[in-house]
Amino acid sequence: MKTIIDNYEFITFKKDNAEFIFSTAKNDLNFNKDLKEGRDNLKLLQDYFNLKDVGYVNQIHSSIIQEYDGTVKSGDAIVTDKTNIGIGIFTADCMPVLIYDKNKNIAAAVHSGWKGTSKNITGKAIGCLVDRYGSCAKDLTVYIGPHNRECCYEFGDSAIYEYFGDIYKKDKSIYINNKLNLEKCIYYQLMDKEVSSENINTLDLCTYCSGEYKFYSYRRDKSSGRMFSFVVIRNN
Ligand SMILES: [Zn+2]
Repeated sequence: MKTIIDNYEFITFKKDNAEFIFSTAKNDLNFNKDLKEGRDNLKLLQDYFNLKDVGYVNQIHSSIIQEYDGTVKSGDAIVTDKTNIGIGIFTADCMPVLIYDKNKNIAAAVHSGWKGTSKNITGKAIGCLVDRYGSCAKDLTVYIGPHNRECCYEFGDSAIYEYFGDIYKKDKSIYINNKLNLEKCIYYQLMDKEVSSENINTLDLCTYCSGEYKFYSYRRDKSSGRMFSFVVIRNN
């Protein structure tokens, strides 16, 4: 649903004990943490959504997964079992993937652009929840946020074989007319980890061409604007 706060617009979902929240670029709400404006807005977010803290990583297009501990480390996924901490990912075309385990009460936020997807960061994050926290993949709920979709996401054809060859061999529809369907790649990675397809939710919104919402798109605008997509576990 749409949640409007201070003329800013968020897309929010509640499921079991978790909230999944995606910022938009309405009224130029920018979460680029390298700018003072972005850091100030992260503080604002704590008030807006009643968060004890906001946790994130220095994103480096890796497959490194960090546990939230109140500090900022390098990586592209962040995990927590703490309540009222918003753990999230900054994007402006890449794919934010938010994950929640209702039984173990654990959440993860994953930054999966094409590089992270080619390194299977989402599959590795699921593996981390299963191996380190005892999650059962079938209990996981996944939300895939706004990103540059197959309508707009141009990708070189030699790179398809280099980075997504295994998936492309199985399903040629991930790459049509020089456009990559990154979400479909993530679906395969989630399925490989035995996440149930009925628990995978997509917002079905393209950062590049959405008319319904305003989003930052790095490829379209070359701007420093970033959205912040986060998951928060509430108290029972
Ligand atoms: Zn599009």
